[in-house]
Amino acid sequence: MIVDLRKIFVNENSSMPIEYAFDMREVEVSGLFPLKQPVKFSGTVSNKASLVELKARISYLYEAPCDRCGVETAREHTVSVEKALAVSTESEESDGILLTPDRMLDLDELIYSEVVVDLPMKHLCKEDCRGICAKCGKNLNEGECDCPKKEIDPRLSALAELLK
Ligand SMILES: [Zn+2]
Ligand SMILES: [Zn+2]
Repeated sequence: MIVDLRKIFVNENSSMPIEYAFDMREVEVSGLFPLKQPVKFSGTVSNKASLVELKARISYLYEAPCDRCGVETAREHTVSVEKALAVSTESEESDGILLTPDRMLDLDELIYSEVVVDLPMKHLCKEDCRGICAKCGKNLNEGECDCPKKEIDPRLSALAELLK
């Protein structure tokens, strides 16, 4: 969606709320498509003393198997966006400044770039997920499995053989 901000730029002390949902189902992360629900954008563009600012929250649901135990897990993430909108910039410093030369804001592009860099590096069903047993494959969050907990030291088992 392209948002026309021309009125905001010319009218001091004006503001415009923006609510939007953006489809990012096509975004692939390691062979999966974790953004099954539309990404939500909720924000305001305001002009205060000729400084045009965008303040927004982007929230998205990340749905994928837990990295450790493989159980399908959905987690909500939010990104706060705070940017000054400018028609041009004199300084090299462009951090926090979003250039909108024609006073049009490409919301899809903004949401896409903010979400892509925010995607979780680690996706766990819970912080202390215990994962699955490497031997029997049991989900250890559901309880211990019957596999021996410690490998018997081979030297000790040789000794045990001798003592027989
Ligand atoms: Zn897990
Ligand atoms: Zn086991």
